[in-house]
Amino acid sequence: MPNFSAKLIRWHKHHGRHHLPWQGTRDPYAIWLSEIMLQQTQVTTVTPYYQRFMQRFPNIKSLALGPLDDILTLWSGLGYYARARYLHQSAQLIIKNYDGKFPRQLDLIQQFPGIGRSTAAAIAVFAFGERCAILDGNVKRVFTRHFGIEGYPGNQKIQNQLWEKAIALLPDKNAKNNIETYTQALMDLGALVCKRSKPNCMICPLQQSCTALRENRVNKLPTIKPRRPLPEKETVFLILTNQKKIFLEKRPTPGIWGGLWCPPEMTTNENATTYCSQHYNLTIKPMSDMPPLNHSFTHFKLRIHPKLLKVSAQIDSKKNKAIWLTLDEALATAIPTPVRKLLKQIESNPTFTSKNG
Ligand code: SF4
Repeated sequence: MPNFSAKLIRWHKHHGRHHLPWQGTRDPYAIWLSEIMLQQTQVTTVTPYYQRFMQRFPNIKSLALGPLDDILTLWSGLGYYARARYLHQSAQLIIKNYDGKFPRQLDLIQQFPGIGRSTAAAIAVFAFGERCAILDGNVKRVFTRHFGIEGYPGNQKIQNQLWEKAIALLPDKNAKNNIETYTQALMDLGALVCKRSKPNCMICPLQQSCTALRENRVNKLPTIKPRRPLPEKETVFLILTNQKKIFLEKRPTPGIWGGLWCPPEMTTNENATTYCSQHYNLTIKPMSDMPPLNHSFTHFKLRIHPKLLKVSAQIDSKKNKAIWLTLDEALATAIPTPVRKLLKQIESNPTFTSKNG
């Protein structure tokens, strides 16, 4: 369907996005970073993170040599922290195996940790003008609706069908710059027009040929994932304080929040007094009740029971791969979102500020 790409390319000229901070460059590093940040995250959220990251780590070498802690601090709040760890590892691999030059072949790009087929294709298109097909979440939505494809797009059979479409729809080989414009147009159409909820079909350049619109199935596609309820887990965060400082430990990698700083964690069956005595040889004094906090991961839901406790002395941080930080320092370090929320609560908790001195 050559018309498909032609319509999108024409539409993009006046209605697509042209001034995103990672556009107008052929620097594969800048494009790679943006593509990784944009996985599961919206442009408006990504933009300030991207700009701060590029300022601190402007190229592959600076990222490869940078401390993981600094990288995670800049990533703090963006979520899916494995992305940041993979970026760091990949930058080191590029220095080691490719003399610091980002490879241009799709199969080589795809071998780096954290880079899947669609992300590799987007980098190859925007950095090197390679004629490759992308298939991210937005594109899957456009394709399933436009071609009326039933079935959950995460299912392998449906995915194969969508990849075939993605390849068949690529614009003509000979037209210069078309691949970049077409790829950006597909992304933009999914983000701006063919949105998950309330798609704006009336202004869509594909409305004439759209199966879902014609058959009144727009709201039924893409087929949603057959849902099983997410398992729920519970945990206790021990927010240990002394001298207006908070005790944070580095989470092991790999694992949830690997490499980030968090309060010590125990199960709901354990006792905080016994835990602190056994692990740190310290006594504790409860300071104030804090409400539980819910946090959702892709595969489970976590209910965190925070306990704000004053400890009798500062734990030796060197021995425990840990740090003692003031609230301000802790908020500026690499911590996951739920810990940030808890620290914000403590910030306005009079018990902490008055009794903890
Ligand atoms: S007409 Fe509507 S459903 Fe079809 S591709 Fe356009 S926005 Fe999506």
